[in-house]
Amino acid sequence: MSNAKIEVKNLTLKYGDALAVDNVSFSLAQGECLTILGANGAGKSSIGKALAGLLPPASGAFLLDGDDVTTLEPFLLAQRGLSYLPEGRAIFPTLTVEENLMLGARKLSKDPKAAVESAYELFSRLGDRRKQQARTLSGGEQQMLAVAKALITEPDVLVVDELSLGLAPLVINDIYTALSAARAKNNVTILLIEQYIDRALNFADRAMLMVHGHEVWNGPADSNAEGIVRGFLSGESEGAA
Ligand code: ATP
Repeated sequence: MSNAKIEVKNLTLKYGDALAVDNVSFSLAQGECLTILGANGAGKSSIGKALAGLLPPASGAFLLDGDDVTTLEPFLLAQRGLSYLPEGRAIFPTLTVEENLMLGARKLSKDPKAAVESAYELFSRLGDRRKQQARTLSGGEQQMLAVAKALITEPDVLVVDELSLGLAPLVINDIYTALSAARAKNNVTILLIEQYIDRALNFADRAMLMVHGHEVWNGPADSNAEGIVRGFLSGESEGAA
């Protein structure tokens, strides 16, 4: 039996008859980070949604700790330690920072207050703004809150979609720093869907490149990877031109 934390086997995803992801397989060991790269529409987010239980596969399987969880409801996957951070700001805009965090913490933490305090340790800017309505936070702070909410239950597995979308470089640095700290503390397994190739490769252990729903390359996220990925992507845009 495999000792992978996550195993995705021959995953095929469709929207109606339209094929979004074709026969993709990968696995992650506990504590490992795989980044999925690719142009718009390549199928990255669809894989994230499928792993969160939001998009039932047309075929293939998803195993968590060796158990087949392909058809589990999102809340059952959350109970099994999978936290999903969708694209956009996954927060409640009219609730305060603290109320947002408490909602996540109450669901799954044994000690919600302590969990909220440790979120403030990770993101001091959220601690300073704990009574502020989430909608009045800057875009970067809103994303910090979304990340803190996803981390507050100390997930085993974190699926993150487009963490840096629309954010300034300094804020992105802060968010990645917090994610690194959480990773070091809890050995969390991360699937990182990211549009910024260099940042994603810096953070991840391994990378997988998708083109039009197909996996075209996978390998270590090392100094060679960026050239390989950019080579594929420039070939793709030339092909489309
Ligand atoms: P982006 O970076 O733009 O989010 P992506 O690589 O994450 O792109 P997906 O969002 O997974 O790509 O989309 C893969 C394909 O599935 C695209 O052709 C897209 O148009 C299609 N698709 C995505 N969501 C839906 C939907 N709800 N209904 C129909 N087709 C969809």
